[in-house]
Amino acid sequence: MSQTPTTTSAGIHWDLAPLFADADAARTAVPALIESSRVFRERYRGRVATLAAPELAEALDELAALDNSLSRLASYAGLRLTVNVNGESERDLNAAVEMALVEAQNLLRFFELEWIGADEEHVQGILADELVAKNRHYLASARRFAPHTRTEAEEEMLGERDAAAAGAWHTLFDQVTSNLRVPFDGEDRTIDEVLARVRVPERETRLAAYEALFTALEPQTPVLAHVYDSLVADRLVLDRVRGYSHPRESRDLGNELPSEAVDVMLAAVERHHHLAHRWFRHKARLLGLDKLSLGDQYAPLGSTRPVSYDDATSLVERALDDFSPRIGEVARGLYRDNRIDAEPRQGKRGGAFCASIAQDALPYIMLNFTDQMDDVRTIAHEIGHAMQFQLAGEIQTALSHHPPLALAEVPSTFAEMIVTDRLLAAAADDAQVRLGLLASSVETAFATVFRQTHMVRYEQGAYGLRAEGKALMPDRLAEIWIETNRPYYGDAVELPEGYRFAWAYIPHFIHTRFYTYAYVFAHLASLALSAKYREDGDAFVGPYLDFLSIGGAASPQEQLAGIGLDITRDDCWDAGFAEIERLIEIAEAIEPDA
Ligand SMILES: [Zn+2]
Repeated sequence: MSQTPTTTSAGIHWDLAPLFADADAARTAVPALIESSRVFRERYRGRVATLAAPELAEALDELAALDNSLSRLASYAGLRLTVNVNGESERDLNAAVEMALVEAQNLLRFFELEWIGADEEHVQGILADELVAKNRHYLASARRFAPHTRTEAEEEMLGERDAAAAGAWHTLFDQVTSNLRVPFDGEDRTIDEVLARVRVPERETRLAAYEALFTALEPQTPVLAHVYDSLVADRLVLDRVRGYSHPRESRDLGNELPSEAVDVMLAAVERHHHLAHRWFRHKARLLGLDKLSLGDQYAPLGSTRPVSYDDATSLVERALDDFSPRIGEVARGLYRDNRIDAEPRQGKRGGAFCASIAQDALPYIMLNFTDQMDDVRTIAHEIGHAMQFQLAGEIQTALSHHPPLALAEVPSTFAEMIVTDRLLAAAADDAQVRLGLLASSVETAFATVFRQTHMVRYEQGAYGLRAEGKALMPDRLAEIWIETNRPYYGDAVELPEGYRFAWAYIPHFIHTRFYTYAYVFAHLASLALSAKYREDGDAFVGPYLDFLSIGGAASPQEQLAGIGLDITRDDCWDAGFAEIERLIEIAEAIEPDA
């Protein structure tokens, strides 16, 4: 950015001194950590599979302490770099820490590998012992890939060929998509720059942006399809070698979700396409159109208001306080200790995140606050993450405090929902501001719940076809893409001809297959929990705080069961969809030009 805009967040920078006094102090910590990792290795290498419970418990405590120190160090270097990406000392420190981390990880890797290789009877005896209770889930879940892991020599060979068999295709995909220039508005633009234009108020610009993107993608589709075809073919071979029974199984196992429960969820999403059609028709009316075109789906609705940083933080604090003073205290702590960096400035990264730092340290938040209403929700989102990191950090170990991927976005999305309710109430005098908020909530839910589900269905279609021995040519992929997207848009949205090529630039298919359903899971779970909170009121709060405290010490299924969601049931997600419907109903009641 050439000029940094002035915002009310000016001067809101984080204070990293509680982590390390300065870069030198962090750098000085490195040799001692490497040495401790080496000592740990010398002490336990070759014995993990046979250690008795008392000694294993001791080893786990040592490992947790190492994990905390390494995590704190890596976080400190990462946070410094985030706000000064071109700083010499920041880059030097980060490079040094990254090298140290790789070295430490190499030294410590034996522990999990030996544990995974341990005899099942011995393992069951250990897991039943109270001495390892606090790390039981870590130990049990580390072994879940054991049935699909080959011998050490075979694994080594499989690892060696990864660079050519997968890495090279990933790189080619990244090169083609990041070098792609889309002629638009008299300039050559990147895919992201053009996609940003589909959210502007001017209809011609939105529609033209998609046209330009698809036109530029088409000539690349033979290469991009070939990249995907090669990867899918290779993954199918590996699945056979590892004994997986379907292409999604390794991801389901990684997410600690039973495949049947994932199927139940995807089917539930597909039963609710009528909500999407209803919203698309309403949106067409609001925009004065007979029918939406693809380029209208993210057209802005209603209006918005500027919000100052002080107003935003106190609004979030009050909303969370009303939910639970314990949660309000997490927000106050972040403000009070200066653990938030909010001001956008030269050399600082874009976006926002919450860094858990370590189990024995408090989380930090990075924002780029520009006085927009959306920024208020972003604060809520990141504080939502902080709630879980802090509460889980208080009672779990370093090996089990981190939430599993499928649940990681639950507290953040839930906190956003609480704060959105507050924003809606605060805008009682302005229907158009309310409409803007509602539209953004509904459309975020759609983009997360529906669209990510179609991506899974598209992938399933592609793997199915490839398993039949059919090469994934552009036309075949286009057909699967349209087939899996059509039910969502129904006859409520006109799809331009070029939409056939919209599969081509999506990186998840290339880098991590079936990644997207974890978003669906988390969003639906937060919606279902919101509905539960609406119903149960204060009785919901205690169990919810308990849920946050589990972190990664139980599977998603166990965690959600504890708070009243049985993810194996067909009707588990209905309350979540009812919540989307409730938002649509409120929006429908707002007159177009009130
Ligand atoms: Zn998040």
